Amino acid sequence: MARVNGVNVSPQEQRNQAWLELTGRDSRRSGKLDMLAIGGGITGAGILREAARRNLAVALIEQRDFAWGTSSRSSKMVHGGLRYLLSGQLKLTWESVRERERLLREAPGLVDPMGFLYAFYKKHWPGRWSFTALLNAYDILASRFNHRYVSVQDCIWLAPHITRKGLTGGIQYGDAVTDDARLVFRTIREAQQDHALALNYVAADRLIIEGGRVCGVGVRDVVSGETADVHATVVVNATGAWADRVRAQVGGGRSIRPLRGSHLVFPFWRLPVAQAIMLIHPSDRRPVFILPWEGATIVGNTDLDHKEDLDIEASITPQELDYLLEAVRYQFPALRIDRGDVLSTYSGVRPVIGTGVLNPSKEKRAHSIWVERGLISVSGGKLTTFRLIARDVLERAARLIPSLPLEKRNNPLFYRTPGPNPHLQQLNQTLQKRLIGRYGTEAEEVVVCAKEGELVRVPGTDVIWAELRWAARTEAVVHLEDLLLRRTQLGILLPEGGMGFLNLIRSICREELGWNDERWLQELYSYRSLWRRCHGIPGETDKRQNTK
Ligand SMILES: Cc1cc2nc3c(=O)[nH]c(=O)nc-3n(C[C@H](O)[C@H](O)[C@H](O)COP(=O)(O)OP(=O)(O)OC[C@H]3O[C@@H](n4cnc5c(N)ncnc54)[C@H](O)[C@@H]3O)c2cc1C
Repeated sequence: MARVNGVNVSPQEQRNQAWLELTGRDSRRSGKLDMLAIGGGITGAGILREAARRNLAVALIEQRDFAWGTSSRSSKMVHGGLRYLLSGQLKLTWESVRERERLLREAPGLVDPMGFLYAFYKKHWPGRWSFTALLNAYDILASRFNHRYVSVQDCIWLAPHITRKGLTGGIQYGDAVTDDARLVFRTIREAQQDHALALNYVAADRLIIEGGRVCGVGVRDVVSGETADVHATVVVNATGAWADRVRAQVGGGRSIRPLRGSHLVFPFWRLPVAQAIMLIHPSDRRPVFILPWEGATIVGNTDLDHKEDLDIEASITPQELDYLLEAVRYQFPALRIDRGDVLSTYSGVRPVIGTGVLNPSKEKRAHSIWVERGLISVSGGKLTTFRLIARDVLERAARLIPSLPLEKRNNPLFYRTPGPNPHLQQLNQTLQKRLIGRYGTEAEEVVVCAKEGELVRVPGTDVIWAELRWAARTEAVVHLEDLLLRRTQLGILLPEGGMGFLNLIRSICREELGWNDERWLQELYSYRSLWRRCHGIPGETDKRQNTK
């Protein structure tokens, strides 16, 4: 159980308390909020963080789990995006590389440098000189020289199984990677430490409009079914790909073009790369990334119009699977990779502002803000630029909340890191850095909560068992999928979504969440069917079910 003011509080009690505070039925918070953000992805989290830092009474609600939307399904890169630079999106690239540098400084262990290799082949475009020119521009924008030419031998050393036919050398450049869902959690946790309120599994069912202006939201606790009206001076719609739905209630038009991007995850030993590889897909010349991540290797992504219902979780199609496999085989033919090597898959829906161009990949990736009848809506942009997006939103909000202080200075986003302490010091440097990056000042408590044998890694991953216990105890876990797909991403890193470790996971859930056998079986059943639908290999699901 978590300790709040010296008292043990169960996850259910924490949730009940937060609901009372949200709905103004708790003496600690009565009256109107200054701001209510809808959407618990990185955009909503960033807005919550920036608003709480400026002492606003602010709350965030998320209809499913925090980071359930696109923000746990990205390519995990914190980057400027070379292709955005190539397509002339200079401002976006400039802002992104600056934000990358800031996050690297402020959140080591959560956002870490990653080298990227691009290999040159005879008669292939882009060649050495054009790619170098692109990287010169990229590095100028970041004010940091961060690339170098590498020989054929170095290429082979960095990517041992890379195709050697026609290989003339390569270029290595620097970007960064993160755990996207944990970036959301760290941002939310820091906001909560500044007295913000954040509730998952609470949906915004309708906007409350009085005198022609939005002044609150009709909310529903998805778990209990309870409903309430929550009033706020400003309501922010940060619902990503869902933004048009909320805007429709204030007469907003259709602006979002939902684009699906899918990824494959391989066991690292099957697709070993010393650092990330960028390659140009042979069939459509789009960039594809192969990235070592948390003990596995991720390959992504695709970029296709997503025509399906947004309430149904996105999943990879057989065509996308083949497309990504083709890219891997093209770059690493000797490995003879096929679908049987894939550990898991995941797909996300990118909220892109549609301009009507035919090719989805040609759509711009910058964010947009709309103010309609007092509702501030924001969508688009990137994980990397979430702090800037939040600051833009607060600037708009300042016109509606006169007391809102605007910061001219670029204050740090994450300012809480623990000092030296004996609990963390018993861990090796890498683990210390990981926990501090992901949990800030709470890193020490993650170590303290560990039972015997829980300060070791879950085999084949970088996650330690204590992270699961800590999450179950304090991080608003409602379902098993929250624990395995977002608090940790073990569900995509382990075979069959982690089925081999169920006994240990079950005992953590029993102890921390109070789940009895019946509840465990329900959770397990829905997690397994979700995993097969959205994280398995298309086609395999039916095969497996038929053999039962
Ligand atoms: C395949 C792919 C790869 C990407 N890779 C990268 C990358 O490497 N680097 C990078 O910087 N960016 C990347 N991006 C972009 C980045 O992931 C997104 O821009 C970002 O996650 C969007 O965050 P968001 O908070 O706006 O949306 P989401 O994360 O989707 O959050 C919106 C939330 O709103 C909730 N919601 C909707 N309606 C309601 C309601 N009525 N009530 C309550 N809650 C509601 C949803 O459940 C959802 O959780 C990628 C995107 C995709 C699709």
